[in-house]
Amino acid sequence: MSALPEKKPGGGTYLPGDFRERVADGAAKYYRRHVHKLSPPNAGGWASGLCCFHADKTPSCSVNLATGAFCCHACNERGDLIHFHQKRSGLPFRQAVRDLLGLAP
Ligand SMILES: [Zn+2]
Repeated sequence: MSALPEKKPGGGTYLPGDFRERVADGAAKYYRRHVHKLSPPNAGGWASGLCCFHADKTPSCSVNLATGAFCCHACNERGDLIHFHQKRSGLPFRQAVRDLLGLAP
Protein backbone atom coordinates (compact mmCIF):
# COMPACT_ATOMS: atom_id res chain seq x y z
CA MET A 1 0.00 0.00 0.00
CA SER A 2 1.46 3.34 -1.02
CA ALA A 3 0.38 6.84 -0.07
CA LEU A 4 -0.57 9.22 -2.86
CA PRO A 5 1.68 12.30 -3.21
CA GLU A 6 0.35 15.28 -1.33
CA LYS A 7 -1.52 17.70 -3.57
CA LYS A 8 -1.15 21.38 -2.81
CA PRO A 9 -4.16 23.55 -3.52
CA GLY A 10 -3.59 26.32 -6.05
CA GLY A 11 -1.41 24.57 -8.57
CA GLY A 12 1.92 22.91 -9.05
CA THR A 13 4.39 25.73 -8.56
CA TYR A 14 4.44 25.86 -4.77
CA LEU A 15 7.97 25.92 -3.33
CA PRO A 16 8.70 25.87 0.39
CA GLY A 17 10.45 29.03 1.65
CA ASP A 18 13.54 27.08 2.71
CA PHE A 19 13.84 25.12 -0.53
CA ARG A 20 17.52 25.97 -1.09
CA GLU A 21 18.51 24.53 2.29
CA ARG A 22 16.34 21.47 1.71
CA VAL A 23 17.85 20.91 -1.75
CA ALA A 24 21.37 21.18 -0.24
CA ASP A 25 20.41 18.61 2.42
CA GLY A 26 19.77 16.10 -0.36
CA ALA A 27 22.97 16.87 -2.29
CA ALA A 28 25.03 13.91 -1.02
CA LYS A 29 22.33 11.38 -1.80
CA TYR A 30 21.68 12.89 -5.23
CA TYR A 31 25.32 13.05 -6.32
CA ARG A 32 26.08 9.54 -5.00
CA ARG A 33 23.25 8.26 -7.15
CA HIS A 34 23.95 10.21 -10.34
CA VAL A 35 27.72 10.83 -10.52
CA HIS A 36 29.70 7.75 -11.49
CA LYS A 37 33.04 6.84 -9.91
CA LEU A 38 32.47 9.39 -7.15
CA SER A 39 35.44 9.64 -4.76
CA PRO A 40 35.08 9.94 -0.98
CA PRO A 41 34.58 13.62 -0.06
CA ASN A 42 37.42 15.69 1.43
CA ALA A 43 37.06 17.72 4.62
CA GLY A 44 35.29 20.49 2.71
CA GLY A 45 32.71 18.10 1.27
CA TRP A 46 34.19 18.03 -2.25
CA ALA A 47 34.27 14.76 -4.17
CA SER A 48 35.03 14.11 -7.83
CA GLY A 49 33.48 11.82 -10.37
CA LEU A 50 32.66 11.44 -14.03
CA CYS A 51 30.97 14.48 -15.54
CA CYS A 52 27.38 14.00 -16.76
CA PHE A 53 27.67 16.79 -19.33
CA HIS A 54 30.50 15.67 -21.58
CA ALA A 55 32.07 12.35 -22.54
CA ASP A 56 34.27 12.03 -19.46
CA LYS A 57 36.89 9.30 -19.15
CA THR A 58 38.65 10.57 -16.04
CA PRO A 59 36.79 12.11 -13.08
CA SER A 60 36.72 15.79 -14.06
CA CYS A 61 33.64 16.93 -12.20
CA SER A 62 33.94 18.18 -8.61
CA VAL A 63 30.72 18.13 -6.60
CA ASN A 64 30.16 19.36 -3.05
CA LEU A 65 28.14 16.85 -1.05
CA ALA A 66 27.40 19.43 1.64
CA THR A 67 26.31 22.43 -0.41
CA GLY A 68 25.37 20.91 -3.79
CA ALA A 69 27.78 23.12 -5.77
CA PHE A 70 29.49 21.50 -8.74
CA CYS A 71 32.22 22.40 -11.21
CA CYS A 72 33.59 20.46 -14.16
CA HIS A 73 37.24 21.18 -14.89
CA ALA A 74 37.00 19.78 -18.41
CA CYS A 75 33.82 21.27 -19.90
CA ASN A 76 33.54 24.25 -17.49
CA GLU A 77 29.94 23.47 -16.56
CA ARG A 78 29.30 24.77 -13.03
CA GLY A 79 26.56 25.87 -10.67
CA ASP A 80 24.41 24.53 -7.84
CA LEU A 81 22.48 21.29 -7.49
CA ILE A 82 19.33 22.83 -9.00
CA HIS A 83 21.32 23.84 -12.10
CA PHE A 84 22.86 20.35 -12.26
CA HIS A 85 19.44 18.72 -12.11
CA GLN A 86 18.03 21.12 -14.72
CA LYS A 87 20.89 20.25 -17.08
CA ARG A 88 20.36 16.53 -16.56
CA SER A 89 16.58 16.51 -16.74
CA GLY A 90 15.73 19.47 -18.98
CA LEU A 91 13.15 20.61 -16.41
CA PRO A 92 12.39 24.30 -15.79
CA PHE A 93 13.64 25.74 -12.48
CA ARG A 94 10.57 25.25 -10.28
CA GLN A 95 9.88 21.75 -11.52
CA ALA A 96 13.53 20.83 -11.04
CA VAL A 97 13.36 22.07 -7.44
CA ARG A 98 10.14 20.19 -6.74
CA ASP A 99 11.66 17.06 -8.27
CA LEU A 100 14.72 17.37 -6.02
CA LEU A 101 12.53 17.80 -2.96
CA GLY A 102 10.44 14.77 -3.86
CA LEU A 103 7.29 16.86 -4.32
CA ALA A 104 4.70 16.08 -6.97
CA PRO A 105 5.36 17.98 -10.22
ZN1 LIG B 1 32.12 18.16 -17.92
